Amino acid sequence: MCRECGAVYTVTDLAQEFCSPFCRVAWNNRARLRGAKLYEAVMTWRVLRQPGGFAAVTALVSDFLDEDRAAGRRWRPRTFNPKTGRRERRK
Ligand SMILES: [Zn+2]
Repeated sequence: MCRECGAVYTVTDLAQEFCSPFCRVAWNNRARLRGAKLYEAVMTWRVLRQPGGFAAVTALVSDFLDEDRAAGRRWRPRTFNPKTGRRERRK
């Protein structure tokens, strides 16, 4: 199942996580953008050590989930383990 659009595809490569290059690029671009925002929030929380500082991190994640819901996307966990190059077993 594609991590971006949820399409079910025939698996020819065990490491395949997306149905198309379009979905892979869209997912990775969003992950980079969100990662940069999270980096800033986590570093600020850790370095400044202000009470309640982690709330900014969880608020960001909530925003991401709201964005995904509005766009009809759903978070799908990684099935590809980059360390082994193999698909994880489904639980
Ligand atoms: Zn897709």
